[in-house]
Amino acid sequence: MRAFACGTCRSLVFFDNDRCLTCGSSLAYDRGRQDLVVVAADEPRRCANRVIANCNWLLDDGPSAVATGSAGGRLCGSCALTRTRPADDDLAGMAAFALAEGAKRRLVYQLDHIGLPTTPRAVDPEHGLAFDLLSSVAEPVTTGHASGVVTIDLAEGDDPHREALRVQLAEPYRTMLGHLRHEIGHWYWDVLVDGTPFLDRFRELFGNEQRDYAEALQEHYGKPPGIDWMDTHVSHYAAAHPWEDWAETFAHYLHIRDTTETAAAWGVRVGGPDLDLSLASNANLDVEPDEHVATFEELAQSWIALEMALNALNRSMGKDDLYPFRLTPAVLTKMRFVHVVVTSVR
Ligand SMILES: [Zn+2]
Ligand SMILES: [Zn+2]
Ligand SMILES: [Zn+2]
Repeated sequence: MRAFACGTCRSLVFFDNDRCLTCGSSLAYDRGRQDLVVVAADEPRRCANRVIANCNWLLDDGPSAVATGSAGGRLCGSCALTRTRPADDDLAGMAAFALAEGAKRRLVYQLDHIGLPTTPRAVDPEHGLAFDLLSSVAEPVTTGHASGVVTIDLAEGDDPHREALRVQLAEPYRTMLGHLRHEIGHWYWDVLVDGTPFLDRFRELFGNEQRDYAEALQEHYGKPPGIDWMDTHVSHYAAAHPWEDWAETFAHYLHIRDTTETAAAWGVRVGGPDLDLSLASNANLDVEPDEHVATFEELAQSWIALEMALNALNRSMGKDDLYPFRLTPAVLTKMRFVHVVVTSVR
């Protein structure tokens, strides 16, 4: 993500700010301009979820501007994508809802920035996008995606709960933003790959998605996690089914693009140690030479150097690796396919 400056005093301000802490100007995120802008203190175009979801966005000019929240006010384009949320009197659920909406705004910002569609279900009732943000405290909830509807278990906003799940599932990384990036990846497979000329290449790289999904998942969870997936998949879960492989690879593509762009915005360049890091990103370059391949190679090279430095920095602070994954040539080849599909939208 880029860095933002206050429109009044040019101080550094952050994506979630609704006020400049230096000069006191009221700020709001203008989605059309992809920028934080100075607004009047009583700005009427603010999203109605300002208090319950800490939303600092202005209303869209587009069709979603007509969406109303349960309290009756008009919602911004990000909040309007949420179809279901906890009841007002579910205090724990509402606190987790605010956290999830914050992660969703970051997701929507990046999708806009990349130029990917986020067609709301209100506009396309059959294939459009909607989020059900539900708390498993009240009822059983399974995080997942089905035909444009992304369901998120808000209980994962609770750190001890999410961390316990992460350990139980032997995952090296688990975050709300990561869930959102993964689940929306499933939707983009429906929209950008299924039934398109990309489908054949998808099957070559990821496998045949017509394989029975429920059976594949059952088999995946039934056997102990070996290491046979490591050379070919970005995570153990990615090996469960070609759809999960795509969603995991897509999520990592968003992780890498965002973090690399953030580093560039802050002037972070990795100039050392004096090692040849190019060996680490030796994707199979002999296939699909394409105008987008060069931009992906650049992204991959910057990322590998940056990721090694970030992991080293985290270890200096006694923390686990920031990016506890290994991008093998096979994984980079799949990720480059994601890049080509995503870039073709523009
Ligand atoms: Zn200011
Ligand atoms: Zn909002
Ligand atoms: Zn999935």
